Amino acid sequence: MTPFRLEDRFGRVATDLRVSLTDRCNLRCTYCMPAEGLDWLPDDVTLTDDEVVRLITVAVERLGVDEVRFTGGEPLVRRGLVDIVARTREAGERLGRPLELSLTTNGLGLARTAASLAAAGLDRVNVSLDTVRAETFAEITRRDRLHDVVAGLEAAAEAGMTPVKVNAVLLRDVNDDQAGELLDWCLERSYELRFIEQMPLDAQHGWSRSTMITAEEILERLGRTHTLTPAVEPRGSAPAERWLVDGGPATVGVIASVTRPFCGDCDRVRLTADGQVRTCLFAREESDLRTAMRAGADDAELADRWVTAMRGKAAGHGIDDPTFLQPDRPMSAIGG
Ligand code: SAM
Ligand code: SF4
Repeated sequence: MTPFRLEDRFGRVATDLRVSLTDRCNLRCTYCMPAEGLDWLPDDVTLTDDEVVRLITVAVERLGVDEVRFTGGEPLVRRGLVDIVARTREAGERLGRPLELSLTTNGLGLARTAASLAAAGLDRVNVSLDTVRAETFAEITRRDRLHDVVAGLEAAAEAGMTPVKVNAVLLRDVNDDQAGELLDWCLERSYELRFIEQMPLDAQHGWSRSTMITAEEILERLGRTHTLTPAVEPRGSAPAERWLVDGGPATVGVIASVTRPFCGDCDRVRLTADGQVRTCLFAREESDLRTAMRAGADDAELADRWVTAMRGKAAGHGIDDPTFLQPDRPMSAIGG
């Protein structure tokens, strides 16, 4: 079997697969979805555990993927998660190529599952936490569950999935005055904090450039309480720019997808919970592997379709382009 590579027209090679396991979620972050939730994907179009594992295996065995991140929606609400992680780990081991496996989660229920996930072969977790104040947490997520996230983070560290990373979004006049406080809280616990610029991917189409907190503003807020100096190591394809905090060794990251795009170094490709390949968060086109798979396509044909999909990857997300249109799928249905 000759392995293909997921190479696009601009010479970028995707080796990092983001797999959305569900579009459902038990929080309602204001920058992500409306209070009433969304019209979730029907069960019959959602990939089964076997189908997800099969497509991941095609990507690993035939397409050179060496890193898999499970996301959603909220991946911890997917019942088969531990089994999917274990079977993905096995797919890598069969090839003698250890995969890097990670999870992006809101942390609810992680206290219960962290040990099993680690035992199944999960290496790392990124937990989303925008504030350590209970009232601000409830305002942003519309749920009073801060304590669950804190317990989930502790369990992840105890299970050895370190360094535990924390993802935060700052919202103007909601939590943008709490950046330094969140950083201190993370430093005390040895969690690696990264701030993400808010992107035009919310289901309500409420994003506005004029109100988003830019990377420059994030650094200014952090600079009120800490001294930041650029970390010297090359960033490679990592989305976060890292800064040493108060001389280091601790660091803080900023993912400036909007104001300092890093599309030229992108090594990611996405698979949605209903089996569509997306070459970019902001892509307006998808390639349907589910229908092909259910119609009887063999692994070679699925790999071939995936390679073809990659040829359509755009050079950049184009948020600054006057013709930019937000994709129809929101972040929660793409897999962040
Ligand atoms: N539910 C999980 C979570 O919250 O971590 C995984 C999915 S969520 C879509 C993945 C990440 O995307 C989270 O860190 C979340 O804060 C971030 N996110 C969601 N909507 C966003 C937006 N409009 N702009 C920037 N980041 C966003
Ligand atoms: Fe759910 Fe994650 Fe979206 Fe928040 S950001 S509503 S936790 S999918």
